[in-house]
Amino acid sequence: CGIVGVVGSANATDILMQGLEKLEYRGYDSAGIFVAKAGGQSNLVKSVGRIADLQAKIGDAVAGDAGIGHTRWATHGKPTENNAHPHTSMSERFVLVHNGVIENFKEIQEEYLKNDTFYGQTDTEIAVHLIAKFVEEEKLELLEAFKKALNIIKGSYAFALMDAENPEVIYVAKNKSPLLIGLGDGYNMVCSDAMAMIRETSEFMEIHDKELVVLTKDSVSVTDYAGKAIDRKSYTAELDL
Ligand code: GLU
Repeated sequence: CGIVGVVGSANATDILMQGLEKLEYRGYDSAGIFVAKAGGQSNLVKSVGRIADLQAKIGDAVAGDAGIGHTRWATHGKPTENNAHPHTSMSERFVLVHNGVIENFKEIQEEYLKNDTFYGQTDTEIAVHLIAKFVEEEKLELLEAFKKALNIIKGSYAFALMDAENPEVIYVAKNKSPLLIGLGDGYNMVCSDAMAMIRETSEFMEIHDKELVVLTKDSVSVTDYAGKAIDRKSYTAELDL
């Protein structure tokens, strides 16, 4: 299972698909990508099976300058297309990929999401509905909504979150699942594994557990879940292709 995301590259679809291929070794049962054009259309494509099956569904039609991709190793819900990531809010505005297990997803559903309908059975879908509720009902800014959700969610996770109405930002957080940032010239990336980004960059930034990262094409901001800024230096890795 793995996550890849990119913001600020005209080749977002290719970068995500190459990243997912590089993450195949981690094992998976299904995969998907969300790709968006700034101020324009977005596409969500998911498939059970191999990355090649996903590629066949994507064809040439899906282009954008930002996106997130996922290979799933099912823990909650069968390996079906509906359960494949990315998952969306009911409005389909908010889009989330997740590796790990949300331990309190049932409690969250009971407490906050009694009236929601779900496409699948994953713990992940609960998380994106929770974030959306804080934006759409409590009128929080997305960053505040994500922070609030992160303070409620318990378990292991690597998250990458996008807003289809503002696809110039990727929101990232992790706890006990691997995730790191890749810094490019005019674009930035997030991924479970540096090796899946080395075609694009050799400049990386660590994310520690319970940190929140806001990524645009030319900025990276790291905070804790209370919003306190963290100064994190990037490093250059010498990895062989
Ligand atoms: N728990 C999530 C699911 O079952 C994520 C699994 C993963 O890490 O790929 O969909």
